[in-house]
Amino acid sequence: MGYIGSVRFFKNIILAGVILGIAVPTGMSLRYREEARAARESNAALLEEKQQLTTRLEEQTLQQDAAVPMAIQVPEEPEEPEELPIEAETPAYQQLYPDFYAPEPMTADVRENKVIYLTFDDGPSPLTDEILDLLDRENIKATFFVVGQSDEANKQRMREIADRGHTLAMHTYTHNYKVVYSGVEPFLDDMYAMFCQIRDVTGVTPSIFRYPGGSINSHNYGIYQDINAEMLRRGFVPHDWNLSSGDAASPTPTPDQIIGNVVGGAASVDRGVVLMHDSSGHRSTVDALQGVIDGLRAQGFTFDQLTARTKPVLFSYRN
Ligand code: ZN
Repeated sequence: MGYIGSVRFFKNIILAGVILGIAVPTGMSLRYREEARAARESNAALLEEKQQLTTRLEEQTLQQDAAVPMAIQVPEEPEEPEELPIEAETPAYQQLYPDFYAPEPMTADVRENKVIYLTFDDGPSPLTDEILDLLDRENIKATFFVVGQSDEANKQRMREIADRGHTLAMHTYTHNYKVVYSGVEPFLDDMYAMFCQIRDVTGVTPSIFRYPGGSINSHNYGIYQDINAEMLRRGFVPHDWNLSSGDAASPTPTPDQIIGNVVGGAASVDRGVVLMHDSSGHRSTVDALQGVIDGLRAQGFTFDQLTARTKPVLFSYRN
C-alpha cells in the first residue's frame, strides 16, 4: 500500500487540519491583536502628541495673550521731562500800541553829585509862562511832567517848554488815580494818550515819565510792579523825587514855607529832585521859585534837567 491512504497519510491530514484550523486562526488572531495593540499604542502616541501640541499651543497663546497686555500695562519708562524754562504767559497788553516805546534803549546811568533837578508837575498852565521866563533868566534847564491838554494855549506852552530846551515828560493824560491805577491796560491807555499828544503837538518823543502820586502810592500798590515792568520793557524811565516843596499841601504853603522845605531838605542830599507844581492854583510856587534857586545855589548846587540818561531817584518801601 502506498503512502496515500496509509494511516500515516491520514495522521498528517488530521495534523494539517489541526494546524489550519487552530494554529492559523490563532496566529492570525495573535497578529491582529498585535496590530490592534500597535494601533492603540499609535493612537495613544498620537493623542499624546496632539495633547502636547495642544498644550504647547495653549501655552504660546497664553504667552501671546499675556504679551499684549504686558506691553500696555508696563509702558516704557517715561523719559525724564526736560527742564523747560518756565514761560510766563505774555500779557496781552504787551501787544498794545506798537509805537509806544522810548526812542532810545534805556541807559539811565548818569549820576552826578551836587546837582538839583527842578521838576514841575500837572501843567502846563498860565503860571508856566512865568516859570519859563524865570528859568531863562537864571539859565536853568528844568523838567516838566505834563498832563493832557485840550485848549490851544496850553498846547502852545508845551511847545514853549520843548523849544526853550527843557525836558517834556509824561505824567498821564487824565491824572485820574481811579482810572490810571485800575489796571495795567488802563494805565497804558492813558499814558499812551499823553505820549501821543506830546509827540503830535511838539514833535518831541518823550522818554521819561512820572507816576501820579509817585511810583509807589496808596492807589497803585496792588499793580505798580506790573505797570512798572511794562513801562520799563517799553524803555521809559520813571522818576520820583526826594525833595518835596510841599506846594500841593492844603492849605497851600506860603512862598517862604516852600523855600524852607526845599532849601532845608537839600542840606541832606547829594543830588536832589525837587517836586513842584505849575498847574493853576500854585501861585505860591511861582513866587517861591527865585528864593528856591538862590538858596540851592548858596549850598553849591548846580541845576540840570532830567533826561533819558539820568539815573532816576525812585521811592522804596521805606518811604
Ligand atoms: Zn501830579
